[in-house]
Amino acid sequence: MICPVCNKKLKTINYENQEVDLCLKCGGIWFDKGELLKVVNGLLSKNKIAPQTVKETYRNKLIRIDKIKKLQRKCPRCNVVMNLKNYSYDSNIIIDKCPSCSGIWTDEGEMQAVAKYIKGNPDMDNYTKALVGACAEGQKSGSNKGKIITAIISLFYLGFASFFNGSEGFLIMLLFLILPLGCIFFGDELGGVTGVRFRTTFFAPVVTKPTPGAFVVFIGWVLLLFPIIFGILSAIGIFN
Ligand SMILES: [Zn+2]
Ligand SMILES: [Zn+2]
Repeated sequence: MICPVCNKKLKTINYENQEVDLCLKCGGIWFDKGELLKVVNGLLSKNKIAPQTVKETYRNKLIRIDKIKKLQRKCPRCNVVMNLKNYSYDSNIIIDKCPSCSGIWTDEGEMQAVAKYIKGNPDMDNYTKALVGACAEGQKSGSNKGKIITAIISLFYLGFASFFNGSEGFLIMLLFLILPLGCIFFGDELGGVTGVRFRTTFFAPVVTKPTPGAFVVFIGWVLLLFPIIFGILSAIGIFN
């Protein structure tokens, strides 16, 4: 078989127990139908792939295939022109797929990118799961209504921020949420912390007495609802 990019002969190699065809010049790899996923799963099961960063998980814009100007490449097996595909529709990894044999051509690094995409970001998944879990648990026991509402509001904020500002919005929102969520979820524990010095530019108060847990939770709520209150006040024109 011939490389669809550089017309050099492809070399058949064994990669994660699959026979794939590698171009030694450009690093592209040809996968027959189903081989790509098998190789990727092999790499993932051996933990050879780093997780996605938050920025990679929450990409800004979907790449549109019709906006890409790439040379048409021909399938090394069937010699028909391959189609560009956004892998899994939203990964923004643009691969070439043969409409006839369903084989896939990946340029150098694209196969690892696919593996990274499938792995995702387990930390972020756990964070979201913890929020959703708090919801579910509270519903089961009928208590912890505050925590359920907190989790719902947080998920809403994160979704809202990433929808309008992509990864950057998500990150800023995440940083914003850490303090109020900490206060609301761990009010009693945080209230018991003493000897902490809050450093600001003008003053540095030291916490010497335990703070009542309920008060910490209350502060958490004020912080959490601040964007909503601020939004309502701006909407009715109080700042004009
Ligand atoms: Zn090549
Ligand atoms: Zn083909």
